[in-house]
Amino acid sequence: MYDYLIVGAGLYGAVMAHEMKKRGQSVLVIDKRPQIAGNVYTKEVEGIHVHQYGAHIFHTNNKEVWDYVNQFATFNRFTNSPVANYHGELYSLPFNMYTFNKMWGVVTPKEAKEKIEAQRKEAGITEPKNLEEQAISLVGTDIYEKLIKGYTEKQWGRKCTELPSFIIKRLPVRFTFDNNYFNALYQGIPIGGYTKMVANMLEGIEVRLNVDYLENKDEYDSLAKKVIYTGPIDAYFNYKLGNLEYRSVRFETELLDEPNFQGNAAVNYTDSETPWTRIIEHKWFEFNDQPKTVISREYSSEWKLGDEPYYPVNDEKNGNLYKAYKELGEKEEKVIFGGRLGEYKYYDMDAVIAAALEKSRNV
Ligand code: UDP
Repeated sequence: MYDYLIVGAGLYGAVMAHEMKKRGQSVLVIDKRPQIAGNVYTKEVEGIHVHQYGAHIFHTNNKEVWDYVNQFATFNRFTNSPVANYHGELYSLPFNMYTFNKMWGVVTPKEAKEKIEAQRKEAGITEPKNLEEQAISLVGTDIYEKLIKGYTEKQWGRKCTELPSFIIKRLPVRFTFDNNYFNALYQGIPIGGYTKMVANMLEGIEVRLNVDYLENKDEYDSLAKKVIYTGPIDAYFNYKLGNLEYRSVRFETELLDEPNFQGNAAVNYTDSETPWTRIIEHKWFEFNDQPKTVISREYSSEWKLGDEPYYPVNDEKNGNLYKAYKELGEKEEKVIFGGRLGEYKYYDMDAVIAAALEKSRNV
């Protein structure tokens, strides 16, 4: 009999497992995949750590979380500065003075602000009601058309006029020459890959892989006093109220016999004609110098049963359905639901870790 059964060896599960063990509890971690680390899993190919389930760049303002992860890995000085490719024209991201200069030839922050203000006025926006209006009021029509509209509509499979404005507020807008995508105090990539970092969190803990909890739920439940479940909450209840919607991503990964494909970790294709949203060149997360390179083209798709769920769709319909599942979850006395899938939340890594640390103190 274990004190805790933890379903899912991703970040939430690994932090919980580590914390419970530290408190003297016995822990069993299970995962249906053949490997640990959930979606931060990195696979080594030709010495390059490939982010198999999408690029993960660790960034946080939370000193406790930063100190916490630094126990398990040394972080390098990687700074995320994606480049946007619009029909072969390249722009700096996030939106900053380099972007404004290239787009309009403006030189000073004052000129950039005037340009944006003029475009916002011309579009007649006072109170932004959706992502399109929010974007235009932040950066003007030209940037919206070239760098936001196509990318966002490919990413979410919905019109910008039908999307909530908070999605775009994740992106900083700066009137300085600063290509750092994140405003966070701390940022970097764990040297040696995320898998190693998660393995360090799970050190000394029993982990069983290739194990499907939901298929043998009663058997696994009988092994422990408490269950921490980090899978999709709707799957836990066998979708009995209907399924929550996700955006999924398909990756086409290639090993190329050349040292440098695009000169940057991330290039976003912001037009609507290119079918992929971005290309990741994994070696640049760790400043590698191998003779070969690995790239992944990312295609965004609507999630269907059987696909990997990635991004929760945080609209009203799904929000209400999640609430109903959450109420069912609260009645499961022995079970704690956590993480991006367990809580149906567009969580960054640091927020997942903070939530797990908080929960570990309360149980
Ligand atoms: N976005 C955009 N153009 C870009 C990059 C991002 O319009 O080149 C918008 C898009 O709506 C996206 C949102 O900003 O959904 C958030 O982007 P972020 O990079 O935070 O998404 P993630 O890395 O989580 O996929």
